[in-house]
Amino acid sequence: MSAKILVVDDNPTNLKLVSDVLAFEGHEILKAVDAEEAQIVLADTLPDLILMDIALPGMDGLTLARKLRADGRTNQIRIVALTAFAMKGDDQKAFDAGCDGYITKPIDTRKLPEQVAGFLAMERSKR
Ligand SMILES: [Mg+2]
Repeated sequence: MSAKILVVDDNPTNLKLVSDVLAFEGHEILKAVDAEEAQIVLADTLPDLILMDIALPGMDGLTLARKLRADGRTNQIRIVALTAFAMKGDDQKAFDAGCDGYITKPIDTRKLPEQVAGFLAMERSKR
């Protein structure tokens, strides 16, 4: 299934890696380096899925996720947190902010397409 995916990450290497892997799978990729840029992209386009880095300069990814959930225009977009802190409690923080799931960094490029496909197949009502 081909989807429109917004990747938000302030780390250029990570942003390129994730974007390239998913573009190779046939997905249409939109990119943003911070929450501000993500909101500019979202004002124009509604993606099927957002891969959201949590640690961003300025507004962090969880704050943006909460904002998108509170907005009727964006509240149906699937949001998956990208978190570098593989720490207990961070998964719950992501869910509490309205994320549908999370993927732990470093990204496993062999697993990423399957992980993304799983989130795309997930019903939003299950959240
Ligand atoms: Mg970051």
